[in-house]
Amino acid sequence: MIKANDPALRSWVSDANKGDFPIQNLPFGVFSVGDARPRLGVAIGSKVLDLQVLHTHGLLAELNIEQGVFASQSINELLQLGKPVWRALRQRISDLLNADNDQLRDNSSIRGEALHEQSAVTMHMPVRVGDYTDFYSSREHATNVGTMFRDPANALLPNWLHLPVGYHGRASSIVVSGTPVRRPCGQTKADDAAAPGFGPSRLLDFELEMAFITGDGKPLGERISTAEADDHIFGMVLFNDWSARDIQKWEYVPLGPFLAKSFASSISPWIVTLDALEPFRTAGPEPELPILPYLQTEGDKAIDINLEVFIQPEGGAEHRVCRSNFRHMYWSIEQQLAHHTVNGCNLRSGDMCASGTISGPTPDSYGSMLELAWKGSKPLQMPDGSERKFILDGDTVIMRGWSEKDGVRVGFGEVRGKVLPASL
Ligand code: CA
Repeated sequence: MIKANDPALRSWVSDANKGDFPIQNLPFGVFSVGDARPRLGVAIGSKVLDLQVLHTHGLLAELNIEQGVFASQSINELLQLGKPVWRALRQRISDLLNADNDQLRDNSSIRGEALHEQSAVTMHMPVRVGDYTDFYSSREHATNVGTMFRDPANALLPNWLHLPVGYHGRASSIVVSGTPVRRPCGQTKADDAAAPGFGPSRLLDFELEMAFITGDGKPLGERISTAEADDHIFGMVLFNDWSARDIQKWEYVPLGPFLAKSFASSISPWIVTLDALEPFRTAGPEPELPILPYLQTEGDKAIDINLEVFIQPEGGAEHRVCRSNFRHMYWSIEQQLAHHTVNGCNLRSGDMCASGTISGPTPDSYGSMLELAWKGSKPLQMPDGSERKFILDGDTVIMRGWSEKDGVRVGFGEVRGKVLPASL
């Protein structure tokens, strides 16, 4: 077991032993207070621990990490240092926050400078995303979509059970939780229309996903095996892959998603390290067909992460519309990374790979409105009496995720985004 994951650990931070951010989690993010420059922090309880302050006072000296890494406005410089450094840093922070360690606990001056209320800080995009890839790794989601749009008898295309299908997405429009999302305009064509028209998307949707963030990987031309993959994955975030279904339906043939996806994707601000998720590994679905050797893995590679989606109408209360779990994914993050690099494609620090919509086996576990309301044929009833087939202007979509075992909850917090009317 990784020492910092010990369920017996307790922190001296008063409210750190309940909620999403106990001492066993220690997720990394980028925050600012007032007019100060954004810098790196770690969530503990309802607080943010300021890593730049710790470094300035010599509390991280043994790690030999340059000050600029903590003063940076993104986590990319830390990502470049590699897994042994990430792991040592998380362990050092765990030690400093341990109830038995008086170094920071009893130094009220540094403590006051280093701990901020989360409610008093602004969270920023934690990472400069160089490249973003979106996979399509939930069998239930791929089956649902294939059933709706193609052929129920052959819902999965022939390649799906043999490789983790994915496409290269747009990195520049990935935004941090809280950023409003404007309804996109685009070209759509109704089935019975002679020609396409232009206007606001009428079928705006969310996709419940998770994404992993990488370190530098190997040089161009080399591949990363499934066994090596975890050494190159820093951590994970919640990911809402906003989707305009009417634009998507018209544009996606033959090269796949483009403007229906590239207008925005939202992520949660705290990156939960892969190390912190290790205790929640579990068995994933059994492969239905034999898979090629480069995609084979040993041991439990799924991760048990509870996921929920809520819709909050303008001025109303949030209403849960989906409960799913990351463990349903047919292809693991190790298989995704091995497949991504098997042709010699290199990774860079801060690359992001999203999972694809995480749908479970039951209708209440589907990870998009397209599936929950089954292409508009089964509208969801909202507590205020309204119906939802897709997302309306003024709606806020909220996703939350957490793992729980042995009395320890490792949470992701949330990703939220409010939909603004299209600008014409
Ligand atoms: Ca997607």
